Amino acid sequence: MTNAIYGASGLSPAAPPQPAAELSRPEVDAERVAVLVGQLLTALGENPDREGLAETPTRVAAWWTSFLSPDAATPTCFTEVHLSGQLVVVGGVSVWSLCEHHMLPMNLRVVAGYVPDGEAVGLSKFGRIAQRYAGRLQVQERFTRQVAEEITAAIGGKDVAVAVRGTHLCMSMRGVRMEEARTTTLQADGRFQTDPVLSAQFLTLATGQWGAVE
Ligand SMILES: [Zn+2]
Repeated sequence: MTNAIYGASGLSPAAPPQPAAELSRPEVDAERVAVLVGQLLTALGENPDREGLAETPTRVAAWWTSFLSPDAATPTCFTEVHLSGQLVVVGGVSVWSLCEHHMLPMNLRVVAGYVPDGEAVGLSKFGRIAQRYAGRLQVQERFTRQVAEEITAAIGGKDVAVAVRGTHLCMSMRGVRMEEARTTTLQADGRFQTDPVLSAQFLTLATGQWGAVE
C-alpha cells in the first residue's frame, strides 16, 4: 500500500545548491555562437539576413547560454512513501536535455527511489539534480548514472535506484513508426540490486508514474 503526497513542497526545507567540481564548466561564448549560427544558416542554404532569421543567431546563442546554466529551473516533483517506511519514491520529474549524438532534444522522465537512513532528502533537491545533469550534451545512460550518484552522495547511503524514460527526438522525428519509441534506463545500487521485493516495488511505482503521465 502506498501513500501519495503531491505537490512541489518538500519533505524537508530545500538545501542550497551544492556545485560539484565536475559541474564547473567553461562559460558559453555567446557572441561566437551567434556568429557560428549565422554561418550554419548560410551553409544550410538560407539567407541569414532575411526578416525571419535576422535575430535567430542571437536568440539561439541566448538559448544555449541558458540551457547550459545548471539550476536554471526546478521541475515539480511528488513523492510516494511506502507505509513501511522502507522505500521513498520521488517522481514527476520531467527534464529536457540534448542528445550528444545529434544535438536534438530528449525528454527525460525521472523516478528516483531510496531507502532513507535517518533524514529524508528535500524534494526540490531531486529536481535540481535532474535539471543540472540535463543541462548539457548528454546520453540517457550517463544521465541516469550521474543522477543516481548525486542522490547517493546527497542521502549518504547506497540504497538508491533511478529509472529514466526518455523520448528522443532523434528517433521520434525520423518517421511515424518511431514516434512512440521510448528508451528506459535503470541504475540500481545497494539493496535495490540484492532485494527483489524492494526492486519490484520500486519498478511498479516507477512504471505506474510513467503510465499516469503518458
Ligand atoms: Zn540522438
